[in-house]
Amino acid sequence: MQYYSTNQQAPKADLKEAVVRGLAPDKGLYMPEQLPVFSSAFFEQLHNLSLQEIGAEVAKCFFGDSVDNKALKQIAEETLNFEIPLVKLSEQIFSLELFHGPTCAFKDVGGRFMARMLAYFTQNEQQDIYVLTATSGDTGSAVASGFFNVPGIKVIILYPKGKVSHIQEQQLTTHGHNITALEVDGTFDDCQKLVKEAFNTEGLRKKLKLTSANSINLARFLPQAIYYYHAVAQLGKTDKKIVFSVPSGNFGNLTAGIFAWNSGLPVHKFIAATNVNDIVPQYLETGIFSPKHSIKTLANAMDVGNPSNFVRMLEIFEHQHDKMAEMVKGFSLDDEGIQKYMQLIYEKHQYIADPHGAIGYAALDQQLQENEVGIFLETAHPAKFIDITEKVLQREVPIPERLGAYLKKKKEAVPLKADFNAFQDYLYSIS
Ligand SMILES: *Cc1c(COP(=O)(O)O)cnc(C)c1O
Repeated sequence: MQYYSTNQQAPKADLKEAVVRGLAPDKGLYMPEQLPVFSSAFFEQLHNLSLQEIGAEVAKCFFGDSVDNKALKQIAEETLNFEIPLVKLSEQIFSLELFHGPTCAFKDVGGRFMARMLAYFTQNEQQDIYVLTATSGDTGSAVASGFFNVPGIKVIILYPKGKVSHIQEQQLTTHGHNITALEVDGTFDDCQKLVKEAFNTEGLRKKLKLTSANSINLARFLPQAIYYYHAVAQLGKTDKKIVFSVPSGNFGNLTAGIFAWNSGLPVHKFIAATNVNDIVPQYLETGIFSPKHSIKTLANAMDVGNPSNFVRMLEIFEHQHDKMAEMVKGFSLDDEGIQKYMQLIYEKHQYIADPHGAIGYAALDQQLQENEVGIFLETAHPAKFIDITEKVLQREVPIPERLGAYLKKKKEAVPLKADFNAFQDYLYSIS
């Protein structure tokens, strides 16, 4: 399989090149030339397959012509070594709990898969590969955990000093081994600028093999399709039409779901559920895509004003607004609504939803028809947003052991000025 760039100005790439590069040279996103499709036999036996079995099948269908089968199966199994249960809240509404991985958010699935695939593609390289990642909090922890102890790969995470939550900082700075955290005296934008400049500095690139682990990487977003099949498998036989409600920011998660549907998974429609950063719901309504500066909200992992994976959605629906709008419905909720729904979900179902998942639930509550059954993606454990959740629900939220364990570890971070020369000196000093 070859992968083309959505900007159409770069040569086609094989999977290895697309994964190692991340972004195409023309700054477009890589897309497979043919969208993967399953045989009906796969769907007939789907209900009997475990998460790991589904993971192996999906990985084979998506990447099987570029990666050795045995290695691919191992990558899928190692990625999915935790549960992704479908929890019933009512006759019509289910929560797909994506937070049972090591960092308690759905990004674990993509982070772990990508780390292992990158290691597979670079296993015969003599030189270590350096993964540079700027983070505002959540992505960095999934990347750190995903790459932890992966041979041949060193991860350098840049985060803005004093601007991530305590629990996030602990998740970034306590791994050790092949993970190094740089505490940058500046903003997230400064961190991102340093990383970009490093990629653009020829001399540095000659000396060090650099790559990035951001969310537009094929190996990060595509494996997320796996849990859509797993959700349908767990739902079992139903006469009702299936609706997925996906709390969205950069829309990697939703795009993976659309890939699953396109491959034959029986999905009736998707809901693109956002906070007030409602660029995609606006597009679905009006046909006009109009990126804006992001607005800060209680569901801050979705504070995105220019969603990067939207261009992939356009490609799948052949740039036809009516095609996309038929399959994907929009929904957005402001901070007041988020709090109201967190309370309502608890009162109605004794279920603690995090602010992102609460938006997904709200969309189903308002849009679900009689003949439909709805699944919302619960993208993070509520304890990751403990301050908001405890304040809104006026009760204590239990912290899972694996999250609590981070709090007990010792922070190790290298202080860095927001200055490229300082960053470059640091990179030379470790190589
Ligand atoms: C990253 C994130 C999202 C948004 O996912 P996208 O794939 O960027 O749309 C939603 N919820 C949580 C908790 C996240 O961390």
